[in-house]
Amino acid sequence: MAGNVWNGELLLDDFMARLPLAQTTVDLDVERRGEPGLLARLLHDSATRVMFVDRGAVAVPRQEVTAAPAALDCADDPAAPRPDAVAPQDMLELATLSVVALHGDVDRLAPYVIYLGTERASVGNAGSCAGAEIGDAAASYVALDVSRAFRASVDLGVSRDAFGWVELRSFAPCASARDAGLATSAVAVAMWHDQQRCCPFCGAPVSPTLGGWAQTCTNPDDADRLLFPRIEPAIITAIVDDADRILLQNNSAWRERFFSVSAGFVEAGESLEHAVRREAHEEVGVELDTVGYRGSQPWPFPASIMLGFRAHACTTDIRVDHNEVASARWFSRDELVQAVASGEVELPGRASIARHLIEEWFGASLP
Ligand SMILES: [Zn+2]
Repeated sequence: MAGNVWNGELLLDDFMARLPLAQTTVDLDVERRGEPGLLARLLHDSATRVMFVDRGAVAVPRQEVTAAPAALDCADDPAAPRPDAVAPQDMLELATLSVVALHGDVDRLAPYVIYLGTERASVGNAGSCAGAEIGDAAASYVALDVSRAFRASVDLGVSRDAFGWVELRSFAPCASARDAGLATSAVAVAMWHDQQRCCPFCGAPVSPTLGGWAQTCTNPDDADRLLFPRIEPAIITAIVDDADRILLQNNSAWRERFFSVSAGFVEAGESLEHAVRREAHEEVGVELDTVGYRGSQPWPFPASIMLGFRAHACTTDIRVDHNEVASARWFSRDELVQAVASGEVELPGRASIARHLIEEWFGASLP
């Protein structure tokens, strides 16, 4: 593609590797979730590592939180009430405890635990395949769902104040692939439990099962009904024209200077490609010809997966709906650099697929 080299900087490649919430080194170990007594067994195994999740936030060691608490609110949410919030920039890691560090009878915690899987960490001779196999030790990870335990007045066995708390969108770009993967899984499942407290078929309370990844209905008349998280697909598209300009829009619900690419939920019974064309037509009045898939990342706020596309516009006249979209503009690379430098335009945060679609078009990281 022409114009992908900018100012001598290298072309960005490996789109998926740049998406913070798509990274993981953890084996989800799905087949073990159905083992009877799995969570109780993990809670009595001193090798199990426990991390802590509270809806959209995860616990980090308290000393790692150097920014003021307000700054740890999500800086990547364009509708967030704190537009001045600054996301942490330093490397962050999850606070993980051995179950031995939790006070009291750990069995009480089992209903509030999510089995996140294992990571095989080699402790053998890294230079020798045979040595690595002999020395491999798999660590099991579980998440303790803090808000659900609090609602049930269950003592966590450790003070919530013992940790710093960071929102996933601020945490993941600063974390290792392992910790980003653990945190994203934990937030996605915790958000689902937070949102779905009753059976959507009969209204009875639900109880967690399958290692915390599913629920069963407690109504005897609706016995054995198994409920899984419902994931809401959303498309997001970098729209580019013949002059290699990108179309960015400001939505009515966002801060005034915040500009991003076209996005929206996929309608029931609709293909992803149709959703890409429909959103562009509805929001900014632009017609698309070629549409190509780029990659995806989970976006559990509360339950989305973002499916990223790049599309070519065959019309360039903009007609915003003035309902969902307040304004939209074509930007050349020069114009975007100037608009960002002057503060006229604020771009999506590092956690978002929108940011990486824009940077992929730009050909380099943007400030
Ligand atoms: Zn039910």
